[in-house]
Amino acid sequence: YQLSDENITVMRKLGEGSVGTVHKVEYRPKRKIMARKLMAVYPDETNHRQIMRELKLLKQCQSPYIVKYYGAYFSEDDDGQSIAICMEYCEGGSLESVYKRVAKLGVQIGEGVLGKVALAVLNGLVHLHSYRVIHRDVKPSNILVTGRGEIKLCDFGVSGELVDSIAQTFVGTSYYMAPERIQGDRYAVQSDIWSLGLTLIEVSQNQFPFPPPGHPQLSVIELLEYIIHMPVPHMDPAKFSADCCDFVSRCLIKEPSQRPTPTTLLTTHPFISTAASKNLNLKSWIERVWGVPKSSSSSSNSNSNSRPA
Ligand code: ATP
Ligand code: MG
Repeated sequence: YQLSDENITVMRKLGEGSVGTVHKVEYRPKRKIMARKLMAVYPDETNHRQIMRELKLLKQCQSPYIVKYYGAYFSEDDDGQSIAICMEYCEGGSLESVYKRVAKLGVQIGEGVLGKVALAVLNGLVHLHSYRVIHRDVKPSNILVTGRGEIKLCDFGVSGELVDSIAQTFVGTSYYMAPERIQGDRYAVQSDIWSLGLTLIEVSQNQFPFPPPGHPQLSVIELLEYIIHMPVPHMDPAKFSADCCDFVSRCLIKEPSQRPTPTTLLTTHPFISTAASKNLNLKSWIERVWGVPKSSSSSSNSNSNSRPA
């Protein structure tokens, strides 16, 4: 792809995060639909060349559990310089948008889907770790669903140079950070597992689990203190199986050396082997979440008020 502003038509805005804006775009020469994320970066040629070099790793890093990367380019407008990262457009949206939608429908995401999410995220993390990449930002908005019902990771810290360049323009706090990271320790593969645990609870109860429901509002610092010192949240044992609850409590072990790695969970945990053996049609699930066009929905789909999967 010869990606550039000249070759791209912006179709619509998909969302906005703390450091970027994502649009659905068309790459005209190949009539290819993509998602393009624009992020302001520090204007520095050497730094931009280094970012491009590091992003090359994304091309090799393909996996069914990672959002496809098409390429990147630098663009300049009145507001300064930005990097545009072009990736696979995921029609089903992020898990954040999915659970918010599901909440509006008055239902919750069930254990079957949660298992498939955990399975996909672990597979994606193991793949990234084989390239010595730690994701660093696992959360519902960075887990995307394609139109075919595939679950994929995006927005991982493949380019340290890009992370640094953004850090110069933005100081962010993520509440998905593992306790060791909040305390400034080294980031290990286990830190992504903590974030997966919080993500599963959030997606299952349509709400971020810290502070627990009913607890008074906390400031940023208080919330981070809370995460370090107070009891960890857990899945509701009345609604989810013992395997599912156990999986999440292992993800949320505070001591990083005691917390399992993605490979351990993937190869030994019963919640994961059950999820892997289940035949779930996630394509029809995501279609039900967003509502299929009338013509293609069958009568068996009319029971849409039940808990999706
Ligand atoms: P933060 O910036 O705090 O990490 P975020 O992940 O929501 O939050 P962005 O990564 O900028 O911020 O993404 C904004 C929104 O765009 C996402 O929440 C998601 O709904 C949507 N989005 C991002 N990438 C894609 C994609 N490839 N396909 C479809 N939608 C996407
Ligand atoms: Mg994101």
